[in-house]
Amino acid sequence: MTQVYNFNAGPAMLPIPVMQQVKEELLDWNGLGMSVMEISHRSKPFMKFGKQSEQDLRDLLNIPDNYKILFLPAGGRGQFSMVPMNLINGYKTAAYVHTGIWGTHASEEAERYCDVNVIASSESTRYTTIPPQAQWQSFSDAAYVHYVDNETVNGVEFSFTPNTGDVALVSDMSSNLLTRPLDVSKYGLIYACAQKNIGPAGVTIVIIRDDLLKREPLPTTPCMYRYHLHAENDSLYNTPPTFPWYVSGLVLQWVKREGGVAEMDRRSKLRSQALYHYIDKSSFYHNPVEQSARSRMNVIFNLADSKLEDDFLHQAEAAGLMGLKGHRYLGGMRASIYNAMPQSGVDTLISFMQEFERRHG
Ligand SMILES: *Cc1c(COP(=O)(O)O)cnc(C)c1O
Repeated sequence: MTQVYNFNAGPAMLPIPVMQQVKEELLDWNGLGMSVMEISHRSKPFMKFGKQSEQDLRDLLNIPDNYKILFLPAGGRGQFSMVPMNLINGYKTAAYVHTGIWGTHASEEAERYCDVNVIASSESTRYTTIPPQAQWQSFSDAAYVHYVDNETVNGVEFSFTPNTGDVALVSDMSSNLLTRPLDVSKYGLIYACAQKNIGPAGVTIVIIRDDLLKREPLPTTPCMYRYHLHAENDSLYNTPPTFPWYVSGLVLQWVKREGGVAEMDRRSKLRSQALYHYIDKSSFYHNPVEQSARSRMNVIFNLADSKLEDDFLHQAEAAGLMGLKGHRYLGGMRASIYNAMPQSGVDTLISFMQEFERRHG
């Protein structure tokens, strides 16, 4: 097999040791003579594995006891509906911060259920900045404040945790959960679909504070969309996506072995700083995001001459650098460099970019 580096935004690269382990135990998991895909979610070995993965996540992020961890289907977008359906009852408005396209999609979905108050937006800078909290409008009557910690398409990431006082803080961390230490106690609810840093597509992690589980969902909320039912049943209310959950559990073990989220943070800074440094030095490539708002996970860049984009992508693929095409909404290029991306992948990308610039610049 030739070495390729996968820069796709999600589904994304997984750690090779995890995939090797999956391969080795695919037909015979835990000496059962069956695959983990074939056994009941209520069987002892699976339930034990599920509990262990929950504990591993709790350890990794220091999640306090008054938070439940859920493994749910329906992806990041499922949470765009679940959050308002479960948290809005008894309130008139929900507050949303727009720092990129995912935040705007989340609030568009919430508008089906409540009045949305956009309390801050970086639209005027084309989502290349993060509005400091001092500039946010008041949100004291809101059911919650929702923001996206890392905007996967726009390549911007929060460098601070908003302080919302008594109002529940809700964060979409789909593309950066597990990549740095986190003070979970500042949040009411955190969610992340797996397919960026955690595992294969199909499972979504929700970390929710006990008092929010007590809010009564809107009456029309389907059972499958009620947090409390999933919490009361330890995420086994229905058949959960067992295989993605299992692979995610292995990734959690891998993060632990590698040194935890502080080590993931250290590596992510090395990777992203190397790439930004090179882009900034060059007059051939350009990144539009303000320094303090730059994402450690998704590095977007444009070529000085957009006519060269197709050539760039073709030659990159020929060199084993896959998935560098930017999101259809923004165009340009995007290198998604999540936890599983080794520094050598970024170094190889930079060498390729240098060589491409030398030939075309
Ligand atoms: C990928 C992503 C989503 C959407 O996740 P799906 O699982 O495709 O629904 C939502 N928010 C952010 C920040 C993402 O990166």
